[in-house]
Amino acid sequence: MGRTQLAAAQNGTVTTEMERVATRENRDSEFVRQQVADGQAVIPANRHHDALDPMIIGREFATKVNANIGNSETTSDRETELEKLHTAVHYGADTVMDLSTGTDLDEIREMHIEHSPVPIGTVPLYEAVKRAESPGDITTDLLLEVIEKQAEQGVDYMTIHAGILAEHLPLTEGRTTGIVSRGGSIMAKWMEENGEQNPLFQVYDEICEIFAEHDVTFSLGDSLRPGSLADACDEAQYAELDTLGELTRRAWEKDVQVMVEGPGHIPMHKVAENVERQQEVCDGAPFYVLGPLVTDIAPGYDHITSAIGAAMAAQAGAAMLCYVTPKEHLGLPDEEDVRDGLAAYRIAAHAGDIGNERPGARDWDDALSEARYAFDWREQFRLALDPDRARDSHDQTLPEDNYKEARFCSMCGVEFCSMRIDQDARAAGEMAALETDTKTDLDASPAAAVNLPPVGTHEGAASELFGAGSDDGPADGVEKGNGIDETEAELELTTETGAESDG
Ligand code: SF4
Repeated sequence: MGRTQLAAAQNGTVTTEMERVATRENRDSEFVRQQVADGQAVIPANRHHDALDPMIIGREFATKVNANIGNSETTSDRETELEKLHTAVHYGADTVMDLSTGTDLDEIREMHIEHSPVPIGTVPLYEAVKRAESPGDITTDLLLEVIEKQAEQGVDYMTIHAGILAEHLPLTEGRTTGIVSRGGSIMAKWMEENGEQNPLFQVYDEICEIFAEHDVTFSLGDSLRPGSLADACDEAQYAELDTLGELTRRAWEKDVQVMVEGPGHIPMHKVAENVERQQEVCDGAPFYVLGPLVTDIAPGYDHITSAIGAAMAAQAGAAMLCYVTPKEHLGLPDEEDVRDGLAAYRIAAHAGDIGNERPGARDWDDALSEARYAFDWREQFRLALDPDRARDSHDQTLPEDNYKEARFCSMCGVEFCSMRIDQDARAAGEMAALETDTKTDLDASPAAAVNLPPVGTHEGAASELFGAGSDDGPADGVEKGNGIDETEAELELTTETGAESDG
């Protein structure tokens, strides 16, 4: 077997990771192998990440969602960082990026990897900047040292800003918002100060060697993504994309898995075009989009402005969506922001899967609709993407238990409840009966696990995280998706969450 999932797939080997992914996605393992072999999907699975439950990212599979966590210069302790990981997985993140820029970077990263059932991604450039103290002082040796150490620790995928080149910088001069990627701005400053080509581009082959050794997946950073609609789809963005296409092919030649990051801020009528262009330029390598925000006018609601773009991107073929919280552009997200951001993005991903008519993707919707029409309130809550939110909203006005049997809610009231009126009319023979006898059987659904209500995928990892029955973590686990007990932690998450972060 080769050193990476890609090499194994190309040699015709179905690995245990591919088998597991096939089960989770309800797909044939040979199909999974072929997708990985062709570079159309990645299984980010560093050979040192023992707690990992393997997952797959690719346009033929259920759309995935990433959440960013990590400490800042002002906050950092192990317990808080563990709670952040728990919160992200709890609310349904398929991967988590540790974008820490504070202290104890090594310890926190190690802890995340040790406890995380989902792939962990990083941006090694951040640690390099911390160690060099100034972006201009970063050396290629330092970059390789940091990347190798993080690979040895078990990081599953790394954002590498190798696509921004010295010749691209003049193309940004007419922009409204310049270079908004954190890593991109650092690399641009380095090139200006040193008068040399991007150091990550210079040592790209060496990075490939390290990645191949530990099976780290590239997440090729889009350093020149637009930070505003005014800059969307400009020459700078597309010039870098061409370089990312070349870097994709160079990584494949070294047996390294690749996904490619994308924008940012894009108007609705250009979202599909962006996805199609990336797929063409990068030969189908999975597209990992940050939003995109489809309007710039709604600070405070950017989980919505971006989830609209994310849903469109998912339908057009994006494989993973990096969440954006309501705090984007404004400040540090707290736990409620993470909850809102992940809910928005899980909706976008699921809507994209329905739009793409993935097998069984709509079964969850059908089951919930049936419970709704049957006035089965408890089942509605259980099936809801965020059960606690659904139950709380209902109980705000009708908290008593008997209203869980009621054939109305407080929105229209008993007299004007249209579903009650409709049912009564059908029961009285005034209208034809519905043909809804067959209930959707979620147990028999062909949907991928992420398109079904939670089934406790990550229970094992949760007990490891918090200890079975401990007060700060549910004994029944960090289940993937909804239906999980609330964490009590007050969180201060990473400084950036999506459209302008490197995740
Ligand atoms: S009262 Fe209105 S919103 Fe509530 S269940 Fe009936 S139709 Fe639906």
